[in-house]
Amino acid sequence: MSKKKIIFATKNKDKMKEIKAVLGDSFDVMSMEDAGISADIIEDGKTFEENALKKAVEIMEMSGEIVLADDSGLEIDFLNKEPGIYSARYMGENTPYSIKNNKIIEIMKDVPDEKRTARFVCVIAAALPKPYNKKLTSRGTIEGIIGYEIQGENGFGYDPIFYLPEKNCTTAQLTMEDKNKISHRGRALRLMKKELENIFIK
Ligand code: IMP
Repeated sequence: MSKKKIIFATKNKDKMKEIKAVLGDSFDVMSMEDAGISADIIEDGKTFEENALKKAVEIMEMSGEIVLADDSGLEIDFLNKEPGIYSARYMGENTPYSIKNNKIIEIMKDVPDEKRTARFVCVIAAALPKPYNKKLTSRGTIEGIIGYEIQGENGFGYDPIFYLPEKNCTTAQLTMEDKNKISHRGRALRLMKKELENIFIK
């Protein structure tokens, strides 16, 4: 049987690689570009779930296809879970992460280890068109602490300050493969894969 087609609503090529690596054996995953869709969806929800669902539903309505979308971010407990859903826009969308990360380190310089807890969160939403008419979400997290200095050059965004005590390194010091095995996005994707397999592959 041919694989069910799924559009993943992201323009990020690195995310697409990770998504195809997890879902590709069961589904024919296409990017918006592959599917010939271009849309800028405003993320104005109050939760990761609302933002991810909004993207998935709007693209599903435009295309009539099964659509997945994600929303992710970093929650720092000492900063009342900021930047959270505003992670990309925190301190300005175009501000380099070297500046954002140094600023967070500066804000937290006197904060003791036990109050430096943080997590990356990723929510994947699925919008299934008729006859399924379903909306699903899955959430994956990875717990860590905010480091005292920038470390590592892999990954992106806040990875150089996201320290994993059990691994004694930041997520920017892991290979992409190793990060994907334990990351918020990898976990959310694997949960969503199971839900979709239950619906489409019996
Ligand atoms: P979005 O889900 O593409 O909107 O990304 C939200 C933002 O969260 C990114 O721009 C990063 O700032 C942050 N973020 C999400 N996942 C990660 C990660 O795995 N490493 C570092 N930063 C991340």
